[in-house]
Amino acid sequence: EPIKCKWRESLTTHIPSPHCSHDWKQKYPKLVFPDVLSMIGNTPMVKLNNIPKSAGVECNIYAKCEFVNPGGSVKDRMVKRIFEDAERQGLIKPGMTIIEQSSGNTGIAVALICALKGYKCIIVMSEKISGEKEAVITSLGASVVRCPVNAPLDAPDGMWGAAHRLRNEIPNSFIFDQFSHPGNPLTHYDTTALEILDQLDNKVDMIVFGGGTGGTVTGIGRKFREVSPHTKLVGFDPVGSKYACPASLNETDVTFFEIEGIGYTVVPPTLDQGVMDYWIKTTDLEALPMCRRLMREEGLLVGMSSGAALVAALKAAKGLKKGQNCVIMLPDSIRNYMTKFVSDRWMDAKGYQPCENKYNVWWWNQ
Ligand code: PMP
Repeated sequence: EPIKCKWRESLTTHIPSPHCSHDWKQKYPKLVFPDVLSMIGNTPMVKLNNIPKSAGVECNIYAKCEFVNPGGSVKDRMVKRIFEDAERQGLIKPGMTIIEQSSGNTGIAVALICALKGYKCIIVMSEKISGEKEAVITSLGASVVRCPVNAPLDAPDGMWGAAHRLRNEIPNSFIFDQFSHPGNPLTHYDTTALEILDQLDNKVDMIVFGGGTGGTVTGIGRKFREVSPHTKLVGFDPVGSKYACPASLNETDVTFFEIEGIGYTVVPPTLDQGVMDYWIKTTDLEALPMCRRLMREEGLLVGMSSGAALVAALKAAKGLKKGQNCVIMLPDSIRNYMTKFVSDRWMDAKGYQPCENKYNVWWWNQ
């Protein structure tokens, strides 16, 4: 049954953008770049082999390696664009303080660009977010403000509330607000979607992705609806989040989930849930061991939402045939989670099965 969700009109006007990726191959044929920001986007894709085979999935599953972006995540693309647009429009200039609410990856991208361009930077994020992300952000010279885990985005002590209060109190400060900025989905509409089509010679039968701000889902989804309408678009959403449609899928007593970067209880303006054909819910119990399998069985050292993506894709792609292509995103890498699912002790303490030979470290003292 088709999902009836409201399309968010504010995002439907497409502003022609200087950010399309099509000239990248001509500009950098030998992959030698004039600066780090030029390396953002145009990420490789890799076919998964062992896990789909053992799950009995016949189609090809290709993963888009967003973790190879310089800041380590899919969010570099969007931040570069909205930063450069704001500079071009005269909204910001070096010396100002950029404040942004984030689950960490946008924070890293903003802090990196602020460091390069001479801005001060404050990142507002939930206390749930890993210490690894905090360490990267503060090493880049930015400050971090932590908010309570369960504060809704728009509550006074939630991320939006805190960021706006800081903006009002700090002179010469500016918020992009990735949760409502049209440039966020438009980045993926203009670049990521076209890269995927180009990389697979327009043969994309299914894409399975999760939403944080929803920029990826909305941007890629809308482009595919226009240029490749037969592609099935499948969303996944952690149990405990409220992004899935229809809303009955979200009914649960669970209020906390470990996965970072996807799912909230308030649907932000940048997420167009209705662009998806259908949604699947995923649990930490499925997703976190899958992150370890991605490491050991595919050699992919990727983050938590990547594990959830593959769990959802293995379910959704069961209906596809040999030769058909299903795409997942790998939004970030294990760098952000070294003390979480990469740690056997953490996995054990949380009740997740990491793998058979855990604690496989020996101290040779003699
Ligand atoms: N996975 C991770 C690890 C992320 O940090 C994000 C961004 N919050 C996403 C997925 C989802 O991206 P988007 O904000 O475009 O929905």
